[in-house]
Amino acid sequence: MSTDPFAPFTQQKFPHFGTDAIHAGQEPDPSTGAVITPISLSSTFAQKSPGIKYSQYEYARTANPTRDAFENCLAKLENGKFGAAFSSGLGCTSTLLHLLKQGDHVVVVDDVYGGTGRYFRTIATEFGVSFTFVDFNEENELEGAFTEQTKMVWLETPSNPTLKISDIAKTAEITHRHGAILVVDNTFMSPYFQRPLDLGADVVMHSVTKYIGGHSDTVMGALCCNDETLFKRIKYLQNSIGMIPSPFDSFLALRSLKTLHVRMPRHAENAQKIAEFLETHPKIEKTVYPGLKSHPQYELARKQMTGPGGMITFWLKGDIVQARQFLENVKLFTLAESLGGVESLVNHPAIMTHASVPAEHRKKLGISDSLVRLSVGIEDVDDLLEDLKFALDQVQL
Ligand SMILES: *Cc1c(COP(=O)(O)O)cnc(C)c1O
Repeated sequence: MSTDPFAPFTQQKFPHFGTDAIHAGQEPDPSTGAVITPISLSSTFAQKSPGIKYSQYEYARTANPTRDAFENCLAKLENGKFGAAFSSGLGCTSTLLHLLKQGDHVVVVDDVYGGTGRYFRTIATEFGVSFTFVDFNEENELEGAFTEQTKMVWLETPSNPTLKISDIAKTAEITHRHGAILVVDNTFMSPYFQRPLDLGADVVMHSVTKYIGGHSDTVMGALCCNDETLFKRIKYLQNSIGMIPSPFDSFLALRSLKTLHVRMPRHAENAQKIAEFLETHPKIEKTVYPGLKSHPQYELARKQMTGPGGMITFWLKGDIVQARQFLENVKLFTLAESLGGVESLVNHPAIMTHASVPAEHRKKLGISDSLVRLSVGIEDVDDLLEDLKFALDQVQL
């Protein structure tokens, strides 16, 4: 690495992370000694006498052994007491909204994930919950957004796709002063690079589909928290609403956690080299990456994250014509939505992931036709650099 993006790195800060990633929440199976948690497919569990059970299990929507192992392992990695898994990231979001009731209000970071914004704007509002979208880095705007009815604050940092970083600890302080709870979507960093509960968040949310799953083969979500009363309510909602992941997805996610601490540093190491290459390239207008000193919140990133992650956003010179020339000529980077897998992906947010964001709002956030987002994988970085160099050479200004 030509620069040390963030020190201290996780190894010093979270000393047992790698051990917990492999062992937390898992014991050899008591009936067979199987070292790896089995995929438990039984939908129901026998009882000896009504109400007298063989284990804590009774019906698999309520609790499942494979899911339990994943939930407990992830909670440990987030330094949380409790975890709950869902069938997707949006399954977490919609379930969490059931903590609220008609008339309640939520303050949301303005460049929240497109699907989250769509759920809030077009569905949750129909049930009488209202939302105010603000830039959390404008402290007056944030303070001014609270009303008597504000019960929840929704933060995503770094944001998507502009990688804006907001202060979690400061937001937690403001949120709690107003008597609300803070939810932090930690999908882009994973617990390896950021632990929102340690910074005062009440709930951490993940699209497990991304870095935690890490292999682009599972759609799943998870929540972690420390407060027992809040967790009991989340478990009640998980069981009552029923947006649970399958045992097979739970198994894949548990398996993926075992390499999170090996994958994440490689994502960041590759991304740092690529970001430094892009930043000085003559056909690129601007590059945003938390590991670049030019990032507007570089100091904050160093403070609250333990590494800069694997996502890079840049603006090509020109417009949609140049963007298409670039996107049609990358070969190793696959043009696809999603992120966080071992393979590198490239995405055009204006047409792809953020098409559901109203055009005017997209403009305000800077999501123009020349904006390109990279999810840097863990391939050999020289091959990735060569791929980008070739595609940029094809761009005609
Ligand atoms: C993908 C994503 C989600 C939604 O998760 P799904 O698993 O696709 O439902 C939420 N937040 C962020 C930041 C995401 O990237």
